[in-house]
Amino acid sequence: MKLPLTEEAIRRYARHIVLPEVGGVGQRKLLAAKALIVGAGGLGSPAALYLAAAGIGTIGMMDPDAVDLSNLQRQILHSMKDLDRPKVFSAQERMEAINPGVKVVPYHAKLSTENAPEILREYDVVLDGSDNFPTKFLVNDACVMLGIPAVIAGILRFDGQLYTIIPKKGACYRCLFRQPPPPGLIPSCQEAGILGAVAGVLGSLQALQAIKILLGIGEPPAGQVLFFDALPGEFKTIRVGRDPACALCGDAPKITELREEGEVCVL
Ligand SMILES: [Zn+2]
Repeated sequence: MKLPLTEEAIRRYARHIVLPEVGGVGQRKLLAAKALIVGAGGLGSPAALYLAAAGIGTIGMMDPDAVDLSNLQRQILHSMKDLDRPKVFSAQERMEAINPGVKVVPYHAKLSTENAPEILREYDVVLDGSDNFPTKFLVNDACVMLGIPAVIAGILRFDGQLYTIIPKKGACYRCLFRQPPPPGLIPSCQEAGILGAVAGVLGSLQALQAIKILLGIGEPPAGQVLFFDALPGEFKTIRVGRDPACALCGDAPKITELREEGEVCVL
């Protein structure tokens, strides 16, 4: 934190540093920060590119899958040369090409109750861009238990939602949804489609929210829920308080250890 910025860093981050709300102090905070992105897909792609460009010093990238041709319609981290390659490695290459000053930590794995605590506790903020509800609940539960802010996004067709979880300070994902919907109730992007640029909007908003949290600027983010509807072109933001009856973050929590939430049902 005390280290002065190098001449190269001052040039690279000049448009940040000139902002009074960021400045050299803020840029050093970002360079010292650690962010984890769960999912290197449609949401994780723009989020990863903006976090790398912004100079978030350490960026964890977690995804169990390999690049498929159908991903390239929206997953802008990956290219034709990456087909069949694990997404985390093409993500790492792309992020380091933008900014060799950031350290990218690839996790070629699925988030689980076993690996979540040891991985998540290394980070200052977690961005969930996964494509299934069990993972979103697992990110929420682990972040609330560890006291780490989480920015969870979901997209389908022309719509997106963004949930900002600041443990104990506003609603968590379980305050809002209690538990994952039964598999099959909500169609997947594979079944129902997704306009690629909608993923771009929400993933960029995730990066923006994470950067604001790391800098401590802007409106207090706790419990903020944002809805985006692309066809009319509308954003709506509401703020939801913590539910004292929440099974996870309420006054008498019933969930005290991580658990797997049923079968994967894809969002
Ligand atoms: Zn809660």
